[in-house]
Amino acid sequence: MKTGVSYFGNRIPEHFVDRDLPDIIAHGCTYIVHTFSENDLQHYATSLKSMVTATHEAGLEAYIDPWGVGGVFGGEAYSEFLPNNLDAWQTKLDGTPVPMACLNAPMFREFMRTWVDAAVELGADVIFWDEPHLYASSGLNNSDRTCFCVVCKELFEAKYGKPMPTTLTSEVAEFREDTVVGFLSDMCAEVKARGQRNAVCLMPFDDGTHGVTDWVKVAAINGLDILGVTPFWQFFKQDRDAFVGHFVEKVVAVSKDYGLESQLWLQAFLVPTGEEAELVLTAEIASKAGVDSIAAWGFRGCDYMSSLRSERPEEVWRVIGETFRGLNQ
Ligand SMILES: [Zn+2]
Repeated sequence: MKTGVSYFGNRIPEHFVDRDLPDIIAHGCTYIVHTFSENDLQHYATSLKSMVTATHEAGLEAYIDPWGVGGVFGGEAYSEFLPNNLDAWQTKLDGTPVPMACLNAPMFREFMRTWVDAAVELGADVIFWDEPHLYASSGLNNSDRTCFCVVCKELFEAKYGKPMPTTLTSEVAEFREDTVVGFLSDMCAEVKARGQRNAVCLMPFDDGTHGVTDWVKVAAINGLDILGVTPFWQFFKQDRDAFVGHFVEKVVAVSKDYGLESQLWLQAFLVPTGEEAELVLTAEIASKAGVDSIAAWGFRGCDYMSSLRSERPEEVWRVIGETFRGLNQ
């Protein structure tokens, strides 16, 4: 079993090497998902490269995550691309832009190629495409969704031979899905051309809310190696067994069909007191379902990130360590 943890918040290589990396190894991790935000890209690339090098020297793999880049991936990091490219935002039916880059915008694709170059230069083993999604704040069946920008409207008309309808027709739903899949296909090809592996991690939705309904379309992307999902049952206030069970079975089945490695994420942030043991039970569900890789978000139960901190982060981290070491015995 591969076991990983996300790492962010510290950009002092000595601290990582002397304190946190040994702690991560002691907790049974075989890989680290290093976040690489726009801020990191501009200001911390050399430091991060030292940390990725240390990760490799310790025998662990390094995944690199476009954390919050363009506002379209998972993560709390801010985007500078957005204020610098006001015409590349996703746009609602009434023309209101939302602070997320349009996945079809040529400027954003170009920016992401720059990001991929930098991520590969860090020494990435895997580029971790973290929850890429479209905007739909209150469900799909109203106009509070994207994307009706000029680029998307032109692409729709070129494909379907008519203006994009204002209601959610099957063609509009298909176009939304193709927007996400097309973007990921482009990005995965860029990474493969540079000789690295790709992971796509989907949000736990399969109703098209954020673009993707048919996971097979994602699994079939050329150059994809790993398919993951983030069924954060406490965060989404879902029944653990049913929610995790559904998505782990789905990710394992689809991954097997397409020769991919399946990955499941554990919610190791905002864990309430007394519910830490649920992490063990969730890992058991995933393990029994045949998942290839389990990862936790994030390091030390997000002790140091105030907005995501678990109530007892040290207990969360202890449980993660016990679970990961058990899985790798
Ligand atoms: Zn658009």
